[in-house]
Amino acid sequence: MARSQMTSMERVMAVCHNEKPDRVPFILASRAFGLKYAGAKFVQAYEDPDLYVQSQLKLIKDFRLDSVWDIWCTPAVDEALGATMDTPEDDPPWIAQPCVHGPDDLGKLRRVDPWKDGRMPYLLDIVTRLKKAVGDDIPVTAWASPPFRTACMIRGNTELYMDMYDDPRFVKDLLEIATENCTAYGKALVEAGADIIAISNPVANTDCISLEHFKEFAHPYSKHMFGEMKKAGAKAINFHTCGRWDDRFDLCCENVDIIHCDRVNIGEFTTGYGDRVVAMGNVKSVATMLQGSVEQVKREALDCLETAAATGRYILSADCEVPRETSAANVRALADTLAAFNERTFGA
Ligand SMILES: [Zn+2]
Repeated sequence: MARSQMTSMERVMAVCHNEKPDRVPFILASRAFGLKYAGAKFVQAYEDPDLYVQSQLKLIKDFRLDSVWDIWCTPAVDEALGATMDTPEDDPPWIAQPCVHGPDDLGKLRRVDPWKDGRMPYLLDIVTRLKKAVGDDIPVTAWASPPFRTACMIRGNTELYMDMYDDPRFVKDLLEIATENCTAYGKALVEAGADIIAISNPVANTDCISLEHFKEFAHPYSKHMFGEMKKAGAKAINFHTCGRWDDRFDLCCENVDIIHCDRVNIGEFTTGYGDRVVAMGNVKSVATMLQGSVEQVKREALDCLETAAATGRYILSADCEVPRETSAANVRALADTLAAFNERTFGA
């Protein structure tokens, strides 16, 4: 067939711009699975950035993914601000100790330099290497922490949730500092070669904070940051709504291009928000990708495709990061189900 195919960049941008893609795109948050699949550990990737880059390229080649990802959710800004980051040998990094114990500590928080401080230069280097490796045809997705998440990490979740009641002024002062630093890092990611900025905010879902608190403390700062990312040249913002967000999806769509959904009915989601954002998801990461059979993966993927793809504003994915121990057979099942669907639907 002589039909010319879109590049991954054209395909992903087509769905973002509400234009017709040549097939449904396929993107996975895959830092841990990719490393395991390539036979590498996190700690090796910290020593050899090319090892990480190669692990992402292998996923593109073997599963026909439409984007590479950096080391998603590495809280480098939080660490540079003074929080203690743990980097387990073969598990994703996380914040073990906050650094802000009260309003008096705000003065100690300086503006961080993404190109010099902590692990940010390492992550920016990964993004530059990924972009150099894939060129213009494949988008590079890179993760940035939204301000509310960074505020929670450097203050401590429970403490910050209490502060919202006891000392809202302090929380807002902290959020201003977080916004400045998260935005500076996000802009540096774009400068380094990131096409899509991925955000996730599991500490601001409906199980964690009320809608009123979300409107006051989380949303305005994120919205501002996303707008700045777009001004800096980000081609798209991909917001991963980890957990339940049903009462705040309309706000989440502001300044966002892709919602990487979790715990939604994907058909209802695309019907409700498809005019505003692209839906990415939502085969269950743990119950299906990690623990399910190949048949379950195929069934769930097909269900997502049949209910959501018709809008043209859909990217097949898991509903969160693909866990490290997921079998390659299950990722293969996802890719094969998509290939068969694309063949039937688009002849592509
Ligand atoms: Zn998640």
